[in-house]
Amino acid sequence: MSTKPNSIASRDVAYCLHPYTNARAHEDKGPLIITHGKGVEVFDDRGKAYIEAMAGLWSTSLGFSEDRLAEVANKQMRELPFYHNFGHKASIPGIELSERILAMAPVPMSKVFFANSGSEANDTAVKLVWYYNNAIGLPKKKKIISRFKGYHGVTIASASMTGLPTNHGDFDLPIANFLHTSCPHYWRFGKDDESEEDFATRMAQDLEDMILAEGPDTIAAFIAEPVMGAGGVIVPPATYWDKIQTVLKKYDVLLIADEVICGFGRTGNAFGSETFGMMPDIISVAKALSSSYLPISAIMISDKLYQGIANNSAKNGVLGHGFTYSGHPVCAAVALETLKIYEERDLFAHAADVGGYLQAGLSQFKDHPLVGEVRGVGLIAAVELIRDKATKANFDPIGKVGSYLNDRATEEGLIIRNMGDSIAFCPPLIITRDEIDHILTRFSAALNKTL
Ligand code: PLP
Repeated sequence: MSTKPNSIASRDVAYCLHPYTNARAHEDKGPLIITHGKGVEVFDDRGKAYIEAMAGLWSTSLGFSEDRLAEVANKQMRELPFYHNFGHKASIPGIELSERILAMAPVPMSKVFFANSGSEANDTAVKLVWYYNNAIGLPKKKKIISRFKGYHGVTIASASMTGLPTNHGDFDLPIANFLHTSCPHYWRFGKDDESEEDFATRMAQDLEDMILAEGPDTIAAFIAEPVMGAGGVIVPPATYWDKIQTVLKKYDVLLIADEVICGFGRTGNAFGSETFGMMPDIISVAKALSSSYLPISAIMISDKLYQGIANNSAKNGVLGHGFTYSGHPVCAAVALETLKIYEERDLFAHAADVGGYLQAGLSQFKDHPLVGEVRGVGLIAAVELIRDKATKANFDPIGKVGSYLNDRATEEGLIIRNMGDSIAFCPPLIITRDEIDHILTRFSAALNKTL
């Protein structure tokens, strides 16, 4: 980092507390300052180019220079820069966006509620489930089950649902009524001689055991990402979702699909729910909804939920939930344009196509001495580093080698992300085969420097 007292890097260290960053290490290491982007690349303040193989935070699906989004934002800002949705008010972009998202939904959905982030969307999902169960006379049915290694955000409820120790320790989380069941990572948690199918059966059994131990009349919902992202890109076994949904149906437990990463093409279909045969009652979306050019998130709810909530109007009057920026017209206009671009350019099919190319390319690293598993689906993947291939033993401490590799990749002009020792790839949907080749070459160089 530049140590000049008034450099932009020094000012960052002096004034900014960074999310998901080791505060003390940042004082020495300083920031990587990104100043602009073009296509799938971003550039730092010294002009060095990086392929953004994480699409920012699993999110800028259209890359970093989609003019149409800038134009639409500009037009909307001049026309109506802000309006809200409270008390029967509405603006046109929010209405059109709701209509369009519902038309894309993988299962019939009835209404859209807007928020600003994935965390807020998931908090909203929980609150509406609680509200609904009170409305239909099931006030005891409030507990939410998520999974170890799941990621659902950082607000108090969504961080409670997140199943990662970093999000709990010293934050005094999870709060009561948030439970975590097993993580469906066969390679890591499957027992010796256990088939993938048997492993999936065991995962469903773990869920059922938890529901029975807690009392089915206390369990409101199960929330899950179709493919776990921040937990290390974990693709469940083929029969996992079928078995899990059988249990949920048996005990009348709602399913919330957290599509914040998987939604809008990431797995090669519009939604991860389609890829894995999920039939959710609620779907949360964010990130690729607007290609992250502006913050906007949403949940879709089924008609069953909507009717329960609407019936409560007589008792409660207004639905006492909403954000100032719910359905912000500029964000909604940008999201609407994003969804139009996905369709015009057939980007979900493109993601399926080049996704296959990425997965095949990454699988060449399976035999590398540092690599334990290569996994993924569509345009999301991970390479997990391990100390011992035979025993699958992790490096100690977990994350040190991953973080070293991450830095080597940055030197090579490649932005990836290590979650512990799982290295994630989640490039913009617009990526080409040539650009994927560059990712692979640069990753290979970084991996070899890590040996
Ligand atoms: N859900 C999932 C699956 C996510 O990956 C994320 C963020 O990465 C969130 C929720 C939280 O979204 P946000 O950071 O916008 O609050």
